[in-house]
Amino acid sequence: MKPAEDSARYTVGFPRPIVDDLNPLIAQARDVARLAYAPYSRFRVGAALRDARGSVYVGCNVESASYGLTICAERNAIFAAIAAGAARPFAALAVTCLDAAEPFTPCGACRQVMAEHLRPDAPVFIDRLGEYLISDLLPLAFSLSNASGRSRRWNAVRSTY
Ligand SMILES: [Zn+2]
Repeated sequence: MKPAEDSARYTVGFPRPIVDDLNPLIAQARDVARLAYAPYSRFRVGAALRDARGSVYVGCNVESASYGLTICAERNAIFAAIAAGAARPFAALAVTCLDAAEPFTPCGACRQVMAEHLRPDAPVFIDRLGEYLISDLLPLAFSLSNASGRSRRWNAVRSTY
């Protein structure tokens, strides 16, 4: 039997199908989400990150009564990996929310950090939604090297007038 014919365990996401329940990185994201400190939103989020050597680092969201100080699971996983000496650029990231009725996508701040630390071809697995590239999630991401490139292009355009 082909996987796509086997029941609701299989979900179809863009750009290609994934099998969330059999994805070990999503399983680790679900495990760490149970440790989230989320008394205000009650949205427990977990992220699992695979580095360039295959080691996995995890993070959960940690909220604060001063809401702006809250940190997301995705950035917590990336920062924990860097603090532990993980090998960059990172090879894959999975994220899940245990409490959302619908699948959710990473916030803009996390997408920016992911764009800086993930390989361009690294899959981003979003539980119950699909597999993406960071360039799908954040086209034209900010980077200091892009900024200097833009200014060179802008100067080239200006010089034609
Ligand atoms: Zn975020």
